[in-house]
Amino acid sequence: MSVNQQAHTGLPYGQPQPGYQGYQQSGYGGQQMPGVHHSQYGAYNGPLPGYQQPAPPQGTLRAPPTSGAPLPTSGAPVPAGQPVYSQFGQGDVQNGIATSAVQMQRPSASQPFIPGTAPTPVSQPATFQQYGPPPTSAQQLTNHMAGMQIGSSTSAPPPAGLGYGPPTSVPPTSGSFTATGSGLYTSYSSSQGPPPVTMTHGLPPTSLSQGLSLAQPAFSGPPLSAQRLPQAPGFVPPPCSTGIGPSSYPPTTGAPRPSTMQGSQLPGQALTGLPTSQPNHVSSPPPHPSMSGPAMTGLQGPPPPTHPSQSGYQMQQNGSFGQVRGPQPNYGGAYPGTPNYGSQPAPPPPPKRLDPDSIPSPIQVIEDDRNNRGSEPFITGVRGQVPPLVTTNFLVKDQGNASPRYIRCTSYNIPCTSDMAKQSQVPLAAVIKPLAMLPTDETPPYLVDHGEPGPIRCNRCKAYMCPFMQFIEGGRRFQCCFCSCVTEVPPHYFQHLDHTGKRVDFYDRPELSLGSYEFLATVSYCKNNKFPNPPAFIFMIDVSYNAVKSGLVRLICEELKSLLDYMPREGNMEESAIRVGFVTYNKVLHFYNVKSSLAQPQMMVVSDVADMFVPLLDGFLVNVNESRTVIVSLLDQIPEMFADTRETETVFAPVIQAGMEALKAAECAGKLFIFHTSLPIAEAPGKLKNRDDRKLINTDKEKTLFQPQTSFYSNLAKDCVAQGCCVDLFLFPNQYLDVATLGVVPYQTGGTIYKYAYFQLETDQERFLNDLRKDVQKEVGFDAVMRVRTSTGIRATDFFGAFYMSNTTDVELAGLDCDKTITVEFRHDDKLSEDSGALLQCALLYTNCAGQRRLRIHNLSLNCCTQLADLYRNCETDTLINFLAKFAYRGVLNNPVKTVRDTLINQCAQILACYRKNCASPSSAGQLILPECMKLLPVYLNCVLKSDVLQPGAEVTTDDRAYIRQLVSSMDVAETNVFFYPRLLPLTKVDVDSDTLPAAIRNSEERLSKGDMYLLENGLNIFVWVGVNVQQGLIQNLFGVSSFNHISSTLNTLPVLENPFSKRVRSIIDMFQAQRSRYMKLIIVKQEDKLEMLFKHFLVEDKSMSGGASYVDFLCHMHKEIRQLLS
Ligand SMILES: [Zn+2]
Repeated sequence: MSVNQQAHTGLPYGQPQPGYQGYQQSGYGGQQMPGVHHSQYGAYNGPLPGYQQPAPPQGTLRAPPTSGAPLPTSGAPVPAGQPVYSQFGQGDVQNGIATSAVQMQRPSASQPFIPGTAPTPVSQPATFQQYGPPPTSAQQLTNHMAGMQIGSSTSAPPPAGLGYGPPTSVPPTSGSFTATGSGLYTSYSSSQGPPPVTMTHGLPPTSLSQGLSLAQPAFSGPPLSAQRLPQAPGFVPPPCSTGIGPSSYPPTTGAPRPSTMQGSQLPGQALTGLPTSQPNHVSSPPPHPSMSGPAMTGLQGPPPPTHPSQSGYQMQQNGSFGQVRGPQPNYGGAYPGTPNYGSQPAPPPPPKRLDPDSIPSPIQVIEDDRNNRGSEPFITGVRGQVPPLVTTNFLVKDQGNASPRYIRCTSYNIPCTSDMAKQSQVPLAAVIKPLAMLPTDETPPYLVDHGEPGPIRCNRCKAYMCPFMQFIEGGRRFQCCFCSCVTEVPPHYFQHLDHTGKRVDFYDRPELSLGSYEFLATVSYCKNNKFPNPPAFIFMIDVSYNAVKSGLVRLICEELKSLLDYMPREGNMEESAIRVGFVTYNKVLHFYNVKSSLAQPQMMVVSDVADMFVPLLDGFLVNVNESRTVIVSLLDQIPEMFADTRETETVFAPVIQAGMEALKAAECAGKLFIFHTSLPIAEAPGKLKNRDDRKLINTDKEKTLFQPQTSFYSNLAKDCVAQGCCVDLFLFPNQYLDVATLGVVPYQTGGTIYKYAYFQLETDQERFLNDLRKDVQKEVGFDAVMRVRTSTGIRATDFFGAFYMSNTTDVELAGLDCDKTITVEFRHDDKLSEDSGALLQCALLYTNCAGQRRLRIHNLSLNCCTQLADLYRNCETDTLINFLAKFAYRGVLNNPVKTVRDTLINQCAQILACYRKNCASPSSAGQLILPECMKLLPVYLNCVLKSDVLQPGAEVTTDDRAYIRQLVSSMDVAETNVFFYPRLLPLTKVDVDSDTLPAAIRNSEERLSKGDMYLLENGLNIFVWVGVNVQQGLIQNLFGVSSFNHISSTLNTLPVLENPFSKRVRSIIDMFQAQRSRYMKLIIVKQEDKLEMLFKHFLVEDKSMSGGASYVDFLCHMHKEIRQLLS
């Protein structure tokens, strides 16, 4: 490491941080190459080196070996009349485009910048997040869920107010509760009273007494307080600002509870400073006439109506006050003392079941938000505003904070202290999509050029100039909003202040008035203090038997011929600056010289895959237009050359190595597009064995299924990242190929994996080609480093997504495309203040597709609160679920899956219990009270819990699970939302004359009508479900056949028929496809057909085949958990 310790001072990127480790460059085997001088990213580093680049390639790239040279293998058939094969055709090192060619692009300084208007307070001031009805009706969700008293067969109501009632009712001291208990997640064992419905999802063995203690919160029973989930060492619940600095939390007046209980609610600790009956609604704005929906309604208020139709609430308005439906007149059975829905006496109904219409409905919440917030632009000028939901269409106007398309947070109001955060258990996290594409009616970030000296930054923490910096002393200095350090304003940047202290050029400078913008990076932000070459794309095609026989090789080659004209280019450039190269492989690798001066492409075979190198430099990476003829000729010939191959074995790691070495030799970053079909069992580095074992499911060893089987690929990934070599992997498996291992490099280099199991040309071609086209064309930043700075008090402590980290602060991404998110978790390291709030600045340094080095900056200001109610009022459940899913999916790498599930349930219960205890008005324990902003937390969390990764069905393969796990880790909030709770539309409600979609329905079989057809999409699949009683006319119109029986269930596309219904349905499907980053597979499902099982898997409110709970059951369970925490 000592070679890395070259202290650079005053470097633009990086901040002095203890423990900031230099990037250790290592060889393939993970050993550091001795004596290699590590050149640096110059200015990118802080006082300690961060990102380093190996000096001239050693060992791996060389001249053609003179001895032991790889020979042309017999495995590479050489058809007569095909390209000339010159073994190791050697030429000059391919040089990139001269750096001067890179210095153009957008006229940055003259970029028209239309001054915005002053960020006037928007109609919704930040602190007022209530769009609900008047306070009187904005009460909490006090569902009188008497039926939710699970395990309470004794019918003894729990002592009212116990634990979460007015503080005075707290009975015992906390001393009574110190003994340890068993798992919080009690199982529905028979001794616990009748469960409402059988619930078989993973339940830890727990002591039988828990259920009893729920109903009899006698303090002699097994102590409840200190219960924890059985946890594998090292796996803790998503940390909730547990704090970093131990000394920084003087107890506040609110007397935060001891932290040892992970926020579990001890009755003796109800004496927190937060009055349980605080009148939250005081802060409500006057009711907005057009915002009558309760999407953000308050947490407090008078006792709830016992009937939803009272006090202006529409039935089902928020999905939570529903009536009990016919067959279940009330739920009061178990608890005589609790309010009932109906007035009838309670018949003891053994099959107690909640009315699904009475529990919070995702559809209703989505609809309400759409209606309330879809019509007006979201203006970002106000601190701490909660944006509209991801399912709402809205326009964003940047007035000083980053658009929610770039950053979404779990909460826009952060607790001032870590104790408070810990108490709530609400994770504090931001889901960041730095290169997100914006709708055409929104302005992409402006490019700012500060000239030779580079961007203006704080001297100390190196934060970039942003709207929150305070100019002082007449504009001669500015005080950093992150670290308070005062920095001189360089003379060239000086400007006078107006009478309000604002610079007079405020509106002329994006970095002073906008939340998001870009800086042109200077040479000091480049590796080796050299402007980068434009990136390159290398297409690497598996030509083993399966790939050729399935027609895949021919398909890829055909497509590439046209696709090469659509590679990303920068703004006004006429052609893409990206160079391309081609490799084919099976057990050996074939490189192609496609230099423009050649009449025919030349193939060079490298069979010594144990020690990969690139046999040609000149002519391997070429400009498409210059070499078009040769390239087209090559793509024509490849399918023919391997048409008769019998080679079934493949290598994999050497393919990546080859691509990386080629980029290294060309001194550029880039992307490898690898098309691969099988487990790489050929003798080579990174060779794998089939270790799939479904018997491991539900055992402690299940985690190994998610882990790579060798560390070889992690080391390779590290090398790729250092080179800016991003790997996109297209998999076409017919059997297990170990996605968990093959995915390591794509994952750690910021790449993408696509998987087409049992690829068949006819059915999968369209999907694959659409994915490939999108993938090749999408905007990518290369050789990127991202850092998130925060104002004093919180700090980014954990990161989730597809990237590599060699230190604790810098997220390194060989590539980052416009669809990828990075999730960052924050913890307190000091107290925050309500006055100053909390600030985030995400800075992404990257090379764009033209080879220009840029910095993209996103700023976001959040509120801080001393009242828990403010936290709960400003949460975003969709983002919370996004975070929790990523947290859980990472957790399965090192923990039994059941432990992970239990941890999620526990945390969710604690979040809701804390709300109930501290924010909700006193009410019967029989009521389930959910915060308005989190009322969907249970239903969505249940979807995560029963997802394929955490609770796989019999049909889900190990590769599927590994694939989904990686996929979800870089999903944005909109993607996780529809992935976990799919969108379901009734097709008979489609209005063929309108662009509006029919209202979605909830994902439950009982909502489906036999006489209807439905469209369901989750981001990966689209189903069209056809009921057995659908009118023949509709079937004719959509499928072009006369009856239900004639519909082919092997269809993977709807026939193109010239009638309004067919057109409209297909246009809806097209619209959905366009919204997703991947092309979804279309599956036609006929009711009662065997494929219906697959479809039902996505009806996520129902009990799942794999044992996942129904929504109703899970809500009951959650209620029980909450009550247990409170008692
Ligand atoms: Zn600073």
